Amino acid sequence: MIKSKGYAAANATTPLAPYAFERREPREHDVVIDIKFCGICHSDIHQVRDEWGGSIFPMVPGHEIAGIVAAVGSRATKFKVGDKAGVGCMVDSCRTCSPCQHGLEQYCAGVPVWTYNSRDTDGTPTMGGYSNNLVVNEDFVLHMPQNLPFEACAPLLCAGITLYSPLKYWQVGSGKQVGILGLGGLGHMGVKLGHALGAEVTVLSHSPRKRADSKRLGADHFYATSEPETFKKLQRHFDLIINTVSSAMDWSPFVNLLNVDGAFVAVGIPDRPISLAVFPLVAGRRSVAGSAIGGIPETQEMLDFCAAHQVTSDIELISIQKVNEAYERVLKSDVRYRFVIDMASLV
Ligand code: NAP
Ligand code: ZN
Ligand code: ZN
Repeated sequence: MIKSKGYAAANATTPLAPYAFERREPREHDVVIDIKFCGICHSDIHQVRDEWGGSIFPMVPGHEIAGIVAAVGSRATKFKVGDKAGVGCMVDSCRTCSPCQHGLEQYCAGVPVWTYNSRDTDGTPTMGGYSNNLVVNEDFVLHMPQNLPFEACAPLLCAGITLYSPLKYWQVGSGKQVGILGLGGLGHMGVKLGHALGAEVTVLSHSPRKRADSKRLGADHFYATSEPETFKKLQRHFDLIINTVSSAMDWSPFVNLLNVDGAFVAVGIPDRPISLAVFPLVAGRRSVAGSAIGGIPETQEMLDFCAAHQVTSDIELISIQKVNEAYERVLKSDVRYRFVIDMASLV
């Protein structure tokens, strides 16, 4: 077994604390990664606090993992020692169902093996990236951009792909009006990626505070949803709105902002049901939908796109000792725009 150390939640109510554990010896097709950086996703907080139910404790969170390959299994061919490597939300899947065979492992009929808070194929609880190392089957490891700051690429592995996938699926590009609802870790990647894809991007934020930032990140327009005028001005404006907000709310006023055939796509995952009136849907053949991260091939495509277009996350690099403080700041929407843990601080 490989000795690992990191930070874990012992239960849903106490702060994360140092934790020692073991990972499996690398199998033939595994790679061992020395973790250098790990982003903090709001999903980490939902799961640590058991807001979605069924959390497995102790839990080492973290699924925006950037590291260097330290060893490879005897039959692993995709990586060599010293390579930059990335791991996102999944570490395995059934590989035989239709979604898996179409590169949509995130929709695996057998449920993918999530990077943490999940059970591996042998039943062992998986442990995530707030730690010094990781053992992963090479098929679930990504090649990271060579030309961009490594720490600013870690959030691409969840926040980046979670916005890239719906932007691509709903064919965003030049001439399309895209709304990004919530300018947080996911939202700011939506602005950068939507802009890089050539769309006209509008930020819909719950307060006026992020107006200047949104322009700097590449948005063409900014509206505060706290101002009732916003909903009058933007009627029938959007082809696509991506909702990154993590709390439940009434979606109906936003559906009214869609043009005919427009789509309102949820990526934020509240812990309770939302409310939605049917009239705004019917009046314009509009859709509501959801989207989860992206499959492994599309995640690699997104990383290559980011390398080509110089897209990274705006990050605040922190020591792991600050993780609990960082969680509180995420909850207050006080992060510009993603916390990334510098694993060198893990002693
Ligand atoms: P985040 O950084 O906390 O961003 C959420 C944003 O919601 C905030 O920045 C804020 O932006 C907005 N917001 C709206 N009303 C708010 C309020 N009353 N208080 C605080 N913020 C408010 O979180 P994230 O990491 O981007 O994740 C967002 C959600 O996506 C979470 O539910 C997470 O679990 C989920 N997620 C889903 C997937 C997927 O595959 N579908 C992947 C990753 C994460 P403004 O200040 O601009 O309003
Ligand atoms: Zn995430
Ligand atoms: Zn499958």
